[in-house]
Amino acid sequence: MSLELNEDQIQLKDWIHEFAVNVIRPAAEEWDEREEFPWPVVEEAAKIGLYGFDFISQAMLGDETGLTMPVAIEETFWGDAGIGLSIFGTGLAVAGIAGNGTMEQTMEWVPQCYGTADDVKLGAFCASEPDAGSDVGGYRTKATYDEAKDEWVINGTKAWATNGGIADIHVVVAVIDPALGSKGQASFVIPKDHPGLSQGQKYKKHGIKASHTAEVVLEDCRVPGAWLLGGKDKLDERLARVREGRKSNSQAAMQTFESTRPSVGAMAVGIGRAAVEYSLEYAKERMAFGKPIIENQAIAFMLADMATEVEASRLMVHNAAWTAKNGQFVNAEGSMCKLKAGRMSVWVTERAIQILGGYGYTREYPVERWHRDAKIFDIFEGTEQIQQLVISRAISGVRIN
Ligand SMILES: Cc1cc2nc3c(=O)[nH]c(=O)nc-3n(C[C@H](O)[C@H](O)[C@H](O)COP(=O)(O)OP(=O)(O)OC[C@H]3O[C@@H](n4cnc5c(N)ncnc54)[C@H](O)[C@@H]3O)c2cc1C
Repeated sequence: MSLELNEDQIQLKDWIHEFAVNVIRPAAEEWDEREEFPWPVVEEAAKIGLYGFDFISQAMLGDETGLTMPVAIEETFWGDAGIGLSIFGTGLAVAGIAGNGTMEQTMEWVPQCYGTADDVKLGAFCASEPDAGSDVGGYRTKATYDEAKDEWVINGTKAWATNGGIADIHVVVAVIDPALGSKGQASFVIPKDHPGLSQGQKYKKHGIKASHTAEVVLEDCRVPGAWLLGGKDKLDERLARVREGRKSNSQAAMQTFESTRPSVGAMAVGIGRAAVEYSLEYAKERMAFGKPIIENQAIAFMLADMATEVEASRLMVHNAAWTAKNGQFVNAEGSMCKLKAGRMSVWVTERAIQILGGYGYTREYPVERWHRDAKIFDIFEGTEQIQQLVISRAISGVRIN
């Protein structure tokens, strides 16, 4: 196993870094304040080839190391997390399609999640609900099969969907058989403007404000059988296996989350690294008591700990990303890296505010925004506590609740 980046990955990192420096960072404050989806920046990313089907398929399929995605994501989120999520949020819908759909469905729908450089499209993954986020077995959105028409009728409300309502392709997780909990669910692809699908409330958030987060409402939303990911025969077989008490290897939402956790960890690493670099430079410049504040061990050691935490988190993310591609998780390494990186980014950005003192607490300096942005990594794609649950079950073999 080697975590050394190859020549292509080093070039990619430099290329995205340039985009982050020249395009993302200068736009970050404005879109955070406006609290709107940063279309011009995402369109720019599509023009240079950072946002698009070709990029994602190259980064995921053309990379045997698993490291290309975390490298690309860290660099983008180093630029800004709200804009970063606007660029990479579609990836969650893509993971939902690729993880649950047939090859034909994947090839049909994934390109439509991105559109083209001249006509940018978005994807949204809609699993969470107002009354069930962590509790994936508690979803109520129901899909009922109308055999005569080979159609599904979907009813319910999805909460917190990144790109929800503005996406061109929504991947919606719905309950088929409520008695089977999370094992009785399936995922559907639903294009925007399809009758019965609409955007509900748009949330006003603490951080990552450029990223659009909204409810998606499904009211008697009739979709053709072909939009069920994986197809009806496979679903029937799976449900039969579960009803007979045999092992089922597919839980629609969990499947998607598991494969994306190292990428989410990489997002948090990007923010953490930005905060360390920024506060380090600040500490070298800021004078107090006649000398730069970094000459105080209290500040220098804080920075040493911050840099160490970022490094440790990145190693865990890269290890998990490599393992996801080349091996098998043994101790929930995907969850471990996401847990560690999320906590790290919250802690490191808070320390960065401390190093900047009063200025760090103002919107004149970016560390305040980074701290607000970082908190989401303790919450979405499995909260801190849910990662602990997954890890503790994996290391103990005990059904911990
Ligand atoms: C900005 C943003 C973007 C999001 N994007 C998406 C998206 O694109 N698609 C999507 O489907 N969802 C998305 N989510 C939803 C997100 O995944 C959920 O918010 C998250 O899973 C937590 O669910 P919840 O908010 O319902 O909290 P709850 O599940 O109600 O949890 C509340 C608290 O209780 C704790 N808790 C719950 N159960 C247990 C337990 N068994 N043991 C110990 N502690 C527990 C939690 O850790 C948490 O601290 C997004 C959320 C936000 C805020």
